[in-house]
Amino acid sequence: MQKCDVIVVGSGNAALCAGISALEHGARVLIVEKATFEEMGGNSRYTAGAMRFAYDSNEDLLPLLKDPNDERIAITDFGSYPKEKFLADLKHFNEGEPITELQQFLVDESLPALQWLATHHIKFAPIYSRQSFMKDGKYIFWGGLTLEAEGEGNGLVMDELKRFQDLGGTILYDCAATEIVTDKGKIVGLTCHYQGQDAFFETPSVILGCGGFEANKELRIRYLGDKWGDAKVRGTRHNLGHGLTMATQLGAALNGYFGGCHATPMDRYMPEYGNLNIPHIERKHYRKISYLFGVMLNANGERFVDEGADFRNYTYAQFGKAVLEQPLSIAWQIFDAKVWHLLYGEYKTSDASFVEANTLEELVAQLTDVNPQQALETLRNYNAAVRQDKPFDPTIKDGRCTEGLTLNKTNWANVLDTPPFRAYPVTGGITFTYGGLKVNQRGEVLNTEGVPIAGLFACGEMVGGVFFHGYPGGSGLTSGTIFGRYAGQSAAQFCSLI
Ligand SMILES: Cc1cc2nc3c(=O)[nH]c(=O)nc-3n(C[C@H](O)[C@H](O)[C@H](O)COP(=O)(O)OP(=O)(O)OC[C@H]3O[C@@H](n4cnc5c(N)ncnc54)[C@H](O)[C@@H]3O)c2cc1C
Repeated sequence: MQKCDVIVVGSGNAALCAGISALEHGARVLIVEKATFEEMGGNSRYTAGAMRFAYDSNEDLLPLLKDPNDERIAITDFGSYPKEKFLADLKHFNEGEPITELQQFLVDESLPALQWLATHHIKFAPIYSRQSFMKDGKYIFWGGLTLEAEGEGNGLVMDELKRFQDLGGTILYDCAATEIVTDKGKIVGLTCHYQGQDAFFETPSVILGCGGFEANKELRIRYLGDKWGDAKVRGTRHNLGHGLTMATQLGAALNGYFGGCHATPMDRYMPEYGNLNIPHIERKHYRKISYLFGVMLNANGERFVDEGADFRNYTYAQFGKAVLEQPLSIAWQIFDAKVWHLLYGEYKTSDASFVEANTLEELVAQLTDVNPQQALETLRNYNAAVRQDKPFDPTIKDGRCTEGLTLNKTNWANVLDTPPFRAYPVTGGITFTYGGLKVNQRGEVLNTEGVPIAGLFACGEMVGGVFFHGYPGGSGLTSGTIFGRYAGQSAAQFCSLI
């Protein structure tokens, strides 16, 4: 290998953005990726490519679209998602703590991040199928999440990879970073395990974009608790937290909430990890996040969350944990035929696990691992408590609630009265972890005294202190793009000065 200026570890969205940015700023860049080409791209490749960003009007949105002439645009209300709303959504999950500097940076830089990606030939499309409902002849977007990258996560990563290589970047697969090597306090290289052999790559600067520790069972138990040992992993099996080890060996400070993670309700019978070998569209099918239109029962036959507390974008990343914490770490999601058309496509595929019956009595008898008497009583009590005087409207928080239950449902409550009834078995699947390294807005990794470690940068899930007790959907890719972009720029500048 020729000597390079910057080595980026990982090949997900954050790492590729870092690589593109460093190239853009004149550096010679090598990416080392632990996985083979078939499995490269990390969790980013598993995503729907949905990216949250602040926008004021169509003027911000339309220039980002691949197809601004889409006929649907004329009958679409994209609304707006001002910075204040994005900040409020993040603050909602801070449990009373103020917005952090990194959160403010995320919000301020969110629209510029998508505009920057667009300059690198990444194009976006409105998420009509998952983030809008038709009302009075118009598509109404809800929940502050409006655009996805073309081709979803797979398309995003492949387009970024192409751009990285077109700009002159080099990438090695089956090349796991093992240690950052220093000499007299300066970074001089990176050791890797490359295609079965030890290898050394000379470099003055390393950008860690190698994900969180969600695929590491031991670390999950240590930081998140015993129940997380058996959690399904929704994405890659390669994010084992080794980036944290490499950085802390150099004195890096940890930051953020290590007890927190993004986790969603998933098909109870999904495999232990995500799997890129099945078609992209089917991979999403394990996810089960339309619970807001029904109810969830645990093994005791009881409800345990307010399924309609908010739009799913603001609850789905927390409810995986809620399910995992139930007895046997399972739950059943129950719907009647009335809301069938509102459920996401993954509920309707041939490989979705479910049971069906024409009466609630017959349905509860089929719920494996559930107390059927209590389940039936819970459903009957729920049905009796629905406020039917309020109109049902999935485009807004409609206030159609239950009244008088110990745990009420706040929105979108409907009586379960239209057969056939369906129940879907779910468990909690971990998506990514929130704790990470302490970095500043330049993407520089800080030591325990708050001083940047010369030549060391981080981005993406490796950055701690951006998400704490919850997550507004679609913020992960945006965060990865922002911190990747600035880490790449900073690393290139660092190299140009030595
Ligand atoms: C199923 C699913 C759906 C999601 N949907 C969305 C969505 O629609 N929108 C959104 O914003 N977020 C979504 N997310 C979250 C999103 O995936 C992450 O926030 C984001 O992709 C993280 O990007 P990253 O580059 O930091 O990490 P990753 O994309 O996970 O990349 C990390 C890379 O580092 C590599 N690596 C690990 N260790 C080493 C090592 N020692 N040496 C070399 N390489 C190493 C891994 O193999 C991997 O390729 C989703 C996640 C999942 C799992």
